[in-house]
Amino acid sequence: MPKAFVPLTQFVNESKSIPREHPLDQPVARWTEEEVLGEEVVEAGVAILRTRGCYWSIKEGCSMCGYFNDTVPGGVSNDMLHSQWEKIRHSLKGKRYAKIYTSGSFLDPTEVPLDFANDVMSDMADMGIEKVLVESLPEFVHPKHFNYSNSPKIEIAIGLESSNPVVLDKSVNKRLRWPHFVKVCKTAHENGAEVKAYVLLKPPYLGERDAIEDAVQSATDAAPYVDKISINPVNVQKNTVVEKLWFRNEWTAPWLWSVVEVLERCKDLPAKVYSDPTGGGTRRGAHNCNDCNGQILDALKEHRLGHGNLKGLECECRSRWEVLKHQSSYRRNGAEPHGYRRGFGNGRRF
Ligand SMILES: [Zn+2]
Repeated sequence: MPKAFVPLTQFVNESKSIPREHPLDQPVARWTEEEVLGEEVVEAGVAILRTRGCYWSIKEGCSMCGYFNDTVPGGVSNDMLHSQWEKIRHSLKGKRYAKIYTSGSFLDPTEVPLDFANDVMSDMADMGIEKVLVESLPEFVHPKHFNYSNSPKIEIAIGLESSNPVVLDKSVNKRLRWPHFVKVCKTAHENGAEVKAYVLLKPPYLGERDAIEDAVQSATDAAPYVDKISINPVNVQKNTVVEKLWFRNEWTAPWLWSVVEVLERCKDLPAKVYSDPTGGGTRRGAHNCNDCNGQILDALKEHRLGHGNLKGLECECRSRWEVLKHQSSYRRNGAEPHGYRRGFGNGRRF
């Protein structure tokens, strides 16, 4: 018998450090952030429930995703989930928009029991919350998983990552199929939900130029089927394949200029396309040089909230990005020479 193919993610998973002790009655995190609701900018309440986590991360996992670091693979009881909810609901008082994340799929009933989900949704509707965002892998987007007795308007965020099957399979290690994505978007809409798609910018093995083209193409493909698209520049999360590659200088986080190019090229699509880069401006997240990181991140935030545009952004590092983007076609991976971003790498300046 030939030896079965063992995905790289499995080696990384096996080398994980011992899981941290997690208090099961406490959510992973809570915060507020500005978000667009209809035509208004409102303060949204955000929380991450601590759950068993994503079933796929237990099986193999995606190359860039470190959310399993915040999960409890043995599971979290209904009582503990309700205790977490008691703490979260206080921070949602007076809010009109809520985002209830898990480090997996809110719509997976083996991760978030349907009874608990129903209680949470009904509670939020009673509190006057108008819209709630949850995340799910597409395989759980089925009406029986969000047929709540009473709920705010549901927005389902789905990680498409890429519409290119090779990128999905080899770079991301995700088993999503494009026709299935289209089908679940229709299912969500037919059952009264909105859909937000996540598209990755620069998953492993793609250079800067190919990464931009892949994100633009994926957003273009997805736009007719979704309400919003968030461009997610890949960032370095702990104990992931991406972190291993980054440590070995075989991949570098994308430039913020690349994010700007993707958004500019997607501005006329039939869905709103924006970006809120996780870890933006740091070595582990999308970044430019120290002189312009803040300016570009501010511009991206204004763009996300519907004010201003991304024209007129300038910095001397832009020409370096142009050169590296061109050169990236000649490199065999997503790395670039050290020192091109001032304040990062080995400190050399060009
Ligand atoms: Zn700069």
